[in-house]
Amino acid sequence: MTYLDPGDPQHFATRLRSAFADRYGRAPAVVGRAPGRVNLIGEHTDYNRGLVLPVALPHATYAAAAPRADGRVRVGSRQQDDEWEGTIATAGPGGPQGWAAYAAGVLWSLTEAGFDLPGMDLLVDGSVPLGAGLSSSAALECSVAVAALAVAGVTLDDDTRARVVQACIRAEGEVAGAPTGGMDQAVAMLAEDGSALLIDFDTDESRPVPLPLPALTLLVTDTRVQHELTDGGYGERRADCEAAAAELRLPSLRAASLEQVERIRDDRVRRRARHVVTETARVQPVADALVAGDREELARLLALSHASMRDDFEISCEELDAAVAVAIESGAVGARMTGGGFGGSSVAVVPDERVEAVMRAIDTEFALRGFTAPAHLRAEPSAGAGLVG
Ligand code: ADP
Ligand code: MG
Repeated sequence: MTYLDPGDPQHFATRLRSAFADRYGRAPAVVGRAPGRVNLIGEHTDYNRGLVLPVALPHATYAAAAPRADGRVRVGSRQQDDEWEGTIATAGPGGPQGWAAYAAGVLWSLTEAGFDLPGMDLLVDGSVPLGAGLSSSAALECSVAVAALAVAGVTLDDDTRARVVQACIRAEGEVAGAPTGGMDQAVAMLAEDGSALLIDFDTDESRPVPLPLPALTLLVTDTRVQHELTDGGYGERRADCEAAAAELRLPSLRAASLEQVERIRDDRVRRRARHVVTETARVQPVADALVAGDREELARLLALSHASMRDDFEISCEELDAAVAVAIESGAVGARMTGGGFGGSSVAVVPDERVEAVMRAIDTEFALRGFTAPAHLRAEPSAGAGLVG
């Protein structure tokens, strides 16, 4: 069985400091950390001004940084072979390609947001699986932002955190070319230990929802089916949602009722909008059911959410449907696919004593059906980004 341990932050930082010294010939000044996330409910609702309920993972990306006097920038990753070198001014749109766009792009967007950054060397490492729907991209952006701001002597207060969220969204959208809605960066910067984060994208307000989860585990299964948000699927969904809001003459689907949505003429656009409206309506009830430990209600709402993503939004796949079905058959309270879709991960709420059995049952089913072996992790609600050590 493949089980992904988050790793201890101090251990990661120590290992990263020595890898940094090996690569760049000097010690880093700081190590920043930012978590991946799993979304419990509210998928593709962020860019529709809706609600989401993500949890920050104990799995995180770590970024070590040291300033340079010559204004140049180097970014490397222990997960990638290629390094990027340039300046902050050349790290904007059309500059760094591939993974480096997420890292160097943040230096550019922070500078655009008014932060005065020096040149620097950066090296990242981490335990968030890449492209698994657990937001390794925002973890990368936010870990780099935290390290870069520390190098520049900027204190990470609430106002700075909010500006970092916006700068990271901008880097991912304009430099990496992935038009994400903002949930990932918000939870990476704003989550509190032991809580999920309920975010309202209409008011841009968020609040922690404490999740003691007595006797329950949030089990995440990475199907290993790769998605690429810079591909067309995500953008097409956004375009359909915009078309739906335009037809209803509303600023966004947040303002739409189910009744209005059912009158949309095009079948596909109507189903996309129906997902968004019903999904946002499920977010607060799922938060309430988690806090109350109401297993029946959780089961019902998570099942409705999964069906909505599979049938109306059409972002699931065979492997995700299998992981969800087997989790429930083998003892999970409820389960759904999570993240942007087209592969990625599922999340299941599982009684502690059933976790091993659920993981094994999913592995067995995947082997029987000839799917790539999945990886599992426990999503213990963790804290947002900060410095390590
Ligand atoms: P997700 O955010 O769900 O993991 P994305 O497609 O949004 O998937 O982002 C994954 C991409 O982010 C990777 O393909 C890579 O370019 C970049 N990335 C994430 N983490 C790292 C890392 N530790 N080192 C280098 N690149 C990374
Ligand atoms: Mg991402």
